[in-house]
Amino acid sequence: MIVVMEAGASERQVQAVVERIRGAGLNTHISVGVSRTVIGVVGDDRTKEILRESLEVASGVERVVAILQPYKLVSREFLPHDTVVTAGGQPIGGARVAVIAGPCSVESREQILAAADGVKAAGATLLRGGAFKPRTSPYSFQGLEEEGLRLLAEARDRTGLPVVTEAMDAAQLELVVRYADMIQIGARNMQNYTLLREAGRARLPVLLKRGVSATIEELLMAAEYILSEGNYQVVLCERGIRGFNGHTRYTLDLSAVPVLKQLTHLPVLVDPSHGTGKWRYVAPMARAAVAAGADGLMVEVHPDPANALSDGPQSLNIENFAGLMASLRPIAGALGREI
Ligand code: PEP
Ligand code: MN
Repeated sequence: MIVVMEAGASERQVQAVVERIRGAGLNTHISVGVSRTVIGVVGDDRTKEILRESLEVASGVERVVAILQPYKLVSREFLPHDTVVTAGGQPIGGARVAVIAGPCSVESREQILAAADGVKAAGATLLRGGAFKPRTSPYSFQGLEEEGLRLLAEARDRTGLPVVTEAMDAAQLELVVRYADMIQIGARNMQNYTLLREAGRARLPVLLKRGVSATIEELLMAAEYILSEGNYQVVLCERGIRGFNGHTRYTLDLSAVPVLKQLTHLPVLVDPSHGTGKWRYVAPMARAAVAAGADGLMVEVHPDPANALSDGPQSLNIENFAGLMASLRPIAGALGREI
């Protein structure tokens, strides 16, 4: 439920409404817009219903609107304007298309620094790289763990690019928070509710990737877990869902972009690397994602994809990434955005 205050409502009127809501044992989220203050009410549905009538007639209140979807805090009804998330000073959402680029895994100092230098020169705004890797096989490279995080921090110091890296469980969060600028929650963990809640209590923004078999509603409910703990800095990422054709690793659901932009105020990114699994298809799908209105991209880039320890076949080399960035500029420009 949201309480929309009148355009000229005073601070005292807002405060009185907030106190009444909190007094009933419900939580509030206050959004101060240019012309109006909107108070989001979260908590038990029956209590909300009981409170509703008295809020409708409270001084300074214009109207009370029920949010019908199961997700509340992430919904557009709750916050009508686009949320801009800031990771290490870099905005995600808004006029500029954010580009998170870097290798699937941090493999060595030489590799991550070469990747970071390369993606920075080509115009990426954030650096990615996994230190804890969710691999399908327990025999595959599992990541450099804390050493990988240290190397990412060194790459950030050198290039100025904020770092995005994955935490696979709640126990890894503390380390990730110590070194990174943004916590990645991967597709396999989209419904790891303990991790989602812990990330909701963390002081870093969160990049939440869609599970490979998750519906849009399940993705939004997963994000709701993070916001419900007080962390409103959440970015969603479409990364391909399980399909039935063998041409691509997953089926990149680009229709998720306009659907999510309609349903939620959170920024929406697209990962065409995992979405296709083959480097040749990455650039076309990245361009399509920007054309579809994505707020940004997450792209795997490796200085030497042929020798990558993970996801080499879907990684762009530096030159191809630079070519992709150049080709995105006119597309972003045509849509009134920059990259
Ligand atoms: C990744 O970004 O390297 C990754 C493992 O992604 P996903 O969780 O989407 O598979
Ligand atoms: Mn990967």
